[in-house]
Amino acid sequence: MRKSFLQILIGLLYPEHCSGCGLGGVSICTTCVSHLRLARALARDTDFAVFDYGDKQVRRAIWDFKYRHHASRAKILVETSIPYILSFLSDRLQSTTPQTLVLVPIPQHIQKTRIRGYNQSFLIATWMAAHITGANVQQLLYKSVPSSPQARTKNKQARKQNVVHTMRTTTLIDPRTIYVLIDDVTTTGATLNEARRALRQGGGKKILSVSIAHGYISS
Ligand SMILES: [Zn+2]
Repeated sequence: MRKSFLQILIGLLYPEHCSGCGLGGVSICTTCVSHLRLARALARDTDFAVFDYGDKQVRRAIWDFKYRHHASRAKILVETSIPYILSFLSDRLQSTTPQTLVLVPIPQHIQKTRIRGYNQSFLIATWMAAHITGANVQQLLYKSVPSSPQARTKNKQARKQNVVHTMRTTTLIDPRTIYVLIDDVTTTGATLNEARRALRQGGGKKILSVSIAHGYISS
């Protein structure tokens, strides 16, 4: 994301401080990062989330990234996630031959991308790919139907209904390739399920997912 003149000016007037302890010069310090709460295991063995969205610092990093164009904290979270992600992937792949991994960002509707200026899942996938050997990012899914913002849709059933049949593949999917869906936050898993459904319909067979955080909501 390119910073606007106003954002640069704000940065000069208000230098960064750690969101956890207030240490100057960093958006989140290494000590506070090491104390971030990790997510519990997800329902599906093929899905993995790194941090617990209930952790205030995790929530703040993702919120600032999605709604305030402030990416530095989220990028640190992604870089901190790499060893956990590599461990998850090596457990699932269990192969001695090098494999190509295609990271597939969860798409957002073009209207939202225009308003926000970027798709946060695409940026997360790009940051990850820089640290995972053999990984590349391909935007194989697109969102054909805009859904109402999940954060404002509290009912669990409504959230699930909200995303059914909203995604399509942009091209044919190779059944031999391993696809890893990338999302910022997963809650009910409904979005990941829809992405998985679309990839399968396009021909995909081996589909994993990695989210930066897992948010728990009551039904
Ligand atoms: Zn700190």
